[in-house]
This record gives sequence, C-alpha cells and structure tokens, in this order.
Amino acid sequence: MGDKVLIFSCDGGNEAGVAVSKACIRIWEENPDDIKIGCLSALIVPWKFNEVMKDSGKSILIDACDVQCGKKLFEREGISVDRYIEVSSSLGHNKEKKLNSEQLEKKVYGIIHKEMEILLGKNLFQDKKIQEDFLIAFGTDDGKNLNDDHVGMAKYFYVYRFSDNKKEFIERRENVRFKGDESVKHGDPEKARATSSVLEGIDVVVGRKFGPNIIRLLKEFVCVVVRKDSISNAIEAAYRSREKILDLKNKGRDRKHMVL
Ligand code: SF4
Repeated sequence: MGDKVLIFSCDGGNEAGVAVSKACIRIWEENPDDIKIGCLSALIVPWKFNEVMKDSGKSILIDACDVQCGKKLFEREGISVDRYIEVSSSLGHNKEKKLNSEQLEKKVYGIIHKEMEILLGKNLFQDKKIQEDFLIAFGTDDGKNLNDDHVGMAKYFYVYRFSDNKKEFIERRENVRFKGDESVKHGDPEKARATSSVLEGIDVVVGRKFGPNIIRLLKEFVCVVVRKDSISNAIEAAYRSREKILDLKNKGRDRKHMVL
C-alpha cells in the first residue's frame, strides 16, 4: 500500500460538478507526490478497482450534489472511504446545469484543499506561502472611514484585491438598494440578499459592526470585524492577517467571523 491520497469524484454535469473536476485536477497537479485521482467508474470492475486502491494510503470521495451518486455507488459495493464531502450542500445551491464561475471554482478548490490537508496531516501551503488572491470589500459612507452602522447599511463598498505581495484598489460599488432606506430592519433576510448581490465575486467583507445577518453573510463571505476607524488602517490590519483570512475563506460555509 502506498501513501498517496486517492480522490474519487462524481464529475457531475452542473456547475459544482465542473468545479469539483477542475479543483481535483489542479490539486493533483500541485501535489503529484501526495495526491492522485482515482477512477470512480472502476468500482464496477473489481480487479481494476483493487489495482487502483493498491497504491493508495487514504481516500476521499466527493459528490457534487445531494443526489450523492458516488456515495451510493460505494455503499452498494460495500467499500468505505476515509472522508466524504458533498459540495453543493457545503456551498448552498450550485446545481445549475452550466459551466462554473471563477468564484465557485475558487471556493470548491478551497474546500477540497482543506480536506486534503486533514487527510495528509500537513499544510500544503507550507512552502508555497499565500497563493490565492482574494477580493475584500470595506463598508464605508465617505470613502475614508468605515461606516458607523452595520456594514450592510454602508453607502459604498470599496473593493481591493489582496495577493501575496500587494493590495490594490479595484472599484467602488454603490450599495444602491439600501441607500438611505431607514425602514429596513437589521437582520432582514431581504437585506442580506441585497447585500450579497452587491458583493458578488467578493470573498471577504470588512466592517466595524455586523448585524444579525452575519449568520447569513458568513455562508458566502469571510466576515471581518475591524476595530479601526479609517479604511487605510483597516486595510493594513487585514493585510497583516491575510493568511488567517485565507484559512477562513477555505473553510467554506461553516466558518466563524474574525475580529481584528
Ligand atoms: S452526485 Fe449529483 S452531480 Fe454528481 S453525478 Fe450524481 S447527480 Fe450528477
């Protein structure tokens, strides 16, 4: 028996399935000594499947949606794996029959990458430092300071791209729908949905305060509470903590918020 982690995935024909396939190939390419993709379909050819399993240490099975075809196939054959994940439930709903977005691909990559680290018992980023860029939005009313109210009530979001060696301003997004609408209650699900749509493509949201909607927002974004007044100080604080932020991003929907 070898010590590579074998990945079995369902290759589903929806955006989560496509993202799973791409993420698995990328992770194999990045870690050829530790990881290998196994043939899920070989499950019905016993001699071939034994051959596939012969060189592996641990195994993970990834289904793209809650139909769980891969899991049912393994159960039918009476074969177990060390870890199992079902991506659509981890992410919310991504069962549309279309190619994946870049954003979804990054999220799925993060989820699978985390599982690989657990199985291998090591940090795959150890020698690579930070590799992923991420988009981070700061809630503000005046473009200089973080807004005083809950971040979802900010007039604008100033969006920056953080990478390993730089942080650059990308754009200002107007929080159009709730601008000046005092009648909207904190914690209103409609408000959370509107905030999410303004923040499309964003990975991390930074503000001085979050309301009850933080529970919904955390499923889509890393939420960072910053005890700073100015955006520039908040940027510096977030940049210093970018590795921890990236960790939370890759945790997916079960992440907690972070305070800086
Ligand atoms: S688990 Fe879902 S995405 Fe994967 S093969 Fe089955 S139906 Fe398709």
